[in-house]
Amino acid sequence: MTASCMFCKIANNESKAEIVYRDEEVTAFRDIHPVAPIHILIIPNRHIESANEIKSEDQLLVGHMIFTARQLAAREGIDKDGYRLIMNTGPRGGQTVFHMHVHLIGQRQMHWPPG
Ligand code: AMP
Ligand code: ZN
Repeated sequence: MTASCMFCKIANNESKAEIVYRDEEVTAFRDIHPVAPIHILIIPNRHIESANEIKSEDQLLVGHMIFTARQLAAREGIDKDGYRLIMNTGPRGGQTVFHMHVHLIGQRQMHWPPG
């Protein structure tokens, strides 16, 4: 837990969020500024700053984050049409909250290349 980290607070139930899934390892909640009709963030409950800080022993946890995203996509009914999973990393990657998270966005057409 990093005291000033908003996502640590959400994971610890110290700050409000619209939580859609939670277990021992991860928490998933709706993004406060959605960029698509469905926009969910999946975070590890333990503070990891970004993908740059993933350690060898975190590999199962990162896999669990992706698996959770895939399950939520099915639950939200966007799995058949398709969706996008994004992990912005570092300032140039567009990361603004430095507690690692996967964005699950869907229910509209995505474009490539991203901005
Ligand atoms: P990123 O820019 O990839 O670091 O993504 C951070 C995301 O967190 C943005 O899409 C924000 O809208 C979202 N966000 C920031 N604070 C909150 C919050 N308190 N609850 C839900 N989503 C948040
Ligand atoms: Zn944190």
